Amino acid sequence: MTRGRANLPLVALLACAVPPGPTLPAGPAPKPSFLKGQLHLHSNNSGDSETPPGDVARWYAEHGYDFIVFTDHNRITDVSTPGDLLVIPGMEITINVERCEPPPQGPLCPLHVNALFVDPTRTPAEQPDPADLRRTTLFAWGIAKARSLGALPQINHPNFHWAADADTIAAVADGPMLLEVANEAIDSVNAGDATHPSTFAIWDQLLARGVHVWGTATDDAHHYADAERVRARGELAFEGDRGWVMVRAPRGANADQLRDAMARGEFYATNGAVLDDVVCDSGGLLVWPQAPDAEVRCFAGGEPFPAEPAESSHRVCRLASTPGAYVRAEIVGADGRRAWTQPCWAP
Ligand SMILES: [Zn+2]
Ligand SMILES: [Zn+2]
Repeated sequence: MTRGRANLPLVALLACAVPPGPTLPAGPAPKPSFLKGQLHLHSNNSGDSETPPGDVARWYAEHGYDFIVFTDHNRITDVSTPGDLLVIPGMEITINVERCEPPPQGPLCPLHVNALFVDPTRTPAEQPDPADLRRTTLFAWGIAKARSLGALPQINHPNFHWAADADTIAAVADGPMLLEVANEAIDSVNAGDATHPSTFAIWDQLLARGVHVWGTATDDAHHYADAERVRARGELAFEGDRGWVMVRAPRGANADQLRDAMARGEFYATNGAVLDDVVCDSGGLLVWPQAPDAEVRCFAGGEPFPAEPAESSHRVCRLASTPGAYVRAEIVGADGRRAWTQPCWAP
């Protein structure tokens, strides 16, 4: 997310004691460039996929992606492919243990951390085994491993087997980090249940506590051209192009540029809704949905409230002046497809 499109520097606003309020642009700005990226996918370097990495990359290229990060289970997949698709090495650090604290509510503690944008030139430091079986210890171990690979960590599918609540994530957040709020695989239980909050409620709990984590949407895909075959034998197919990120970066950006933009929160997550732009201004979040009839809902402290219309085609989610306040937005298209902006924080 980019802060301060409207040219008044923040210091000037403070010096003049101007009450905060969205600063409206004088006219439509040129559309920024957003690159379509996938942050969670598997190939046959994972035991639960049968598709070779080259075929996976081709599948994503055919679906309009600008970049993908391979995240095979406990293995770095680093392949080069011809064409415009940027293929980036990564790994799903897959901690599957039968016992953890607090204990699992089923047979397994699947505590998974994606290491995204792995630096292939780096030799990771030797890492001792986790000291105990607390969820916080295990997640911190996974995050440290991701950072030792030069990677940006992502806490995956927090509601899969109820892996991570807000307390657990708050305890391990140690710098720029992603949270997979919209893992679009079949069994990620993003909506929660009667006794567990949704992944978005977990995110809001974190943001309200001042924990800066950026929210992502992903596929966690395992099946591609073979999806029909998998269904025909009565199994669930975990397909792709269901959730992705749009990163604000120039066309042709390299892996380092994409990684840095994501670490700064300069992207939105989506399962199909498109934004022309999103800007974090001194007084709030300015959102330009591509579809003029899209609904924009604002969230602060978990409570939704409607966006305000503005003079141009954008909507405004106003930011409270309370120190530490945040606001984020969810955009819902007429077809039900959504997009989620990153939070905008009070200065
Ligand atoms: Zn996983
Ligand atoms: Zn996965």
